[in-house]
Amino acid sequence: MKRYIISLMLFSGISLSAQEKGKAEFVTPLNSPLILSGNFGELRANHFHGGLDFRTQGKTGLPVYSIADGYVSQIDVSIGSGYMLHVRHKNGYTSIYRHMLGFVHSIANYTEKYQYEHELDEVSIDLPPDEFQVKAGEQIGWSGNEGYSFGPHLHMDLLDTESGDFVDPLQFYVNVIKDTKAPRAEGIMLFPQKGKGVVNGKQTNQSFSPFGNRVIEAWGEIGAGIKAHDYMDDVLSHYGVHSVALYVDGKEICTSNMDHFSAYENRMINSWAYAGYMKSFRDPGNKLRFLHTGDDRGVVVINEERDYKFLFVLKDVYGNTSRCEFKVRGRKQDIPAYTPKDKYILKWNELNILKKPGVQVIIPGGMVYQDESVNFETFDTPGAISLDCQLHNQALPLHAPCELQIGVRNMPVADKKKYYIAQKRGNRYSSVGGVFTNGYVCADIRAWHIYCEGRYNSSENSSGREKLLGKSRNRLFFNL
Ligand SMILES: [Zn+2]
Repeated sequence: MKRYIISLMLFSGISLSAQEKGKAEFVTPLNSPLILSGNFGELRANHFHGGLDFRTQGKTGLPVYSIADGYVSQIDVSIGSGYMLHVRHKNGYTSIYRHMLGFVHSIANYTEKYQYEHELDEVSIDLPPDEFQVKAGEQIGWSGNEGYSFGPHLHMDLLDTESGDFVDPLQFYVNVIKDTKAPRAEGIMLFPQKGKGVVNGKQTNQSFSPFGNRVIEAWGEIGAGIKAHDYMDDVLSHYGVHSVALYVDGKEICTSNMDHFSAYENRMINSWAYAGYMKSFRDPGNKLRFLHTGDDRGVVVINEERDYKFLFVLKDVYGNTSRCEFKVRGRKQDIPAYTPKDKYILKWNELNILKKPGVQVIIPGGMVYQDESVNFETFDTPGAISLDCQLHNQALPLHAPCELQIGVRNMPVADKKKYYIAQKRGNRYSSVGGVFTNGYVCADIRAWHIYCEGRYNSSENSSGREKLLGKSRNRLFFNL
């Protein structure tokens, strides 16, 4: 029955419309041979790499071409992505070109006029179908190194227009980019589940060489993960792995097929990837759709005194395959009960309100991916306008911004717009924004790793609220 469920889940990942769209054809976005410096789904800080990075011979200013007929549906100029265009195609996809040096004249003139009229440098302009129609292979801009880019390249994303999902453009270029090299494993990690499993007598996550013959002993519930990279012909770069499947004693436990994800799923990378290892199991709150497991979330139960045969199968888009096998020996032993290190528990599927007099943090369900023990302290600094607040000694990313409220004890200035929350890094303070409500200054935090206090701005011209607005102009996610 379980095998049936897994097969069904694997099948449901490929919808009929995706099969139809799979027939779409695209020309290349550059005139030169396509060489990748980054591929789809590579692990990055707080996100998956959303598209392909094409090398541009160390230069900027190469012509960039639309990869199919369509129209320019969005023009962006931003700090993060430089000059950027969306081209919506008739075949159900939208291509996005980032970090460009500039646009062709007609689009550049339109953009400059818009920037001038709106007195803005950073703009995001939605366009109707009849403004800039483009043909496959028509130039739309020049490649660059603008925004958060670390060397000249062209970043190109492909979106499923209807769902907005990022999909892998490489599937349409397998005939023009050569790859006969399979991915290679670099390390294995085993994850004993809290209070439910042990590996080599310990409850900590442990890494192993994929080539060693060391006997690994375990008992109870464990998860497995693998660190691996993919390679391509004639290029020294390494890439993310398209597909990872884990089998135990021949039974499929978990498969990840990096074929689509949404912007919303990006931060779930913090649940799926751990120190560069891709987990072949799911934390309870991890809803990544490209990860397929049975009802057991891919957690393996070692409950017999025998050898369990683990097999990872790694594949790239071309089907180049490598295998990594190891044994886990079941040895019966006591499993210590889980005792949280910290006083507070964030429940992954419940609303968490952590309160102390003068400080409150609101963490809705779904903001962490499993129950997490955290600390939370306040300190009284004489003369400060609020208590200091420490959510500090663990780097725990939250799925979305969560509200921190700090009570203001005395108000040296009457203007409530002047109050904000300052975050301390080293000895420096920076604003995380703030809105004054009912005696509290409130701001959103994105990680449980912050030391902060309420502050006010004493200068005439700026306010805490303006700082917040200034911050919100930055994008919530980047796809470098
Ligand atoms: Zn990129």
